[in-house]
Amino acid sequence: MFIDPFGRAITHLRISLTDRCNLRCVYCMPKEGLQWQPRADQLSVEEIVRVVETASQGGVKRVRLTGGEPLVHPQVVEIVRRIASIPNIEEVSLTTNAMLLERLAWPLADVGLTRVNISLDSLDADKFRRITRGACRNGSVCCRRICPLARRSVCWDGWRMKRIVRLLKR
Ligand code: SF4
Repeated sequence: MFIDPFGRAITHLRISLTDRCNLRCVYCMPKEGLQWQPRADQLSVEEIVRVVETASQGGVKRVRLTGGEPLVHPQVVEIVRRIASIPNIEEVSLTTNAMLLERLAWPLADVGLTRVNISLDSLDADKFRRITRGACRNGSVCCRRICPLARRSVCWDGWRMKRIVRLLKR
């Protein structure tokens, strides 16, 4: 069991899959992007799985995948599938800007993704465009990206879904 210096059991693990991102938020990176880490220096799928297997033996039950933007990783579905099948792992989640979620929500839900945190700087389309230096997002597009996984999750009841849809339509 992993224990932190305050005597608490460590049950969560966060893994950054990539430093790459498909947005260029003004507070995060320059317009032209950054000097990306060479792919060869990043953890392979096998290495990620090995890290999580080892962590799970030490008491980790929840894994959160982040980036950069984790959905730009070409093997993100395979990574989620492999992590979700590790004994003792109860939850696999990811934090995303949702730009690729419309395409990936179902495949990810199918292989065991249980939770998504969407990082959304503004519901106002103009503000969002300014913050991201030109990316486009409106309520309906965002809803379509979110809905497949939300409908699939047992945590999301109709009442919550209606509130989210209302919020996104503002
Ligand atoms: S979506 Fe996140 S990682 Fe990507 S540029 Fe914006 S703040 Fe940075």
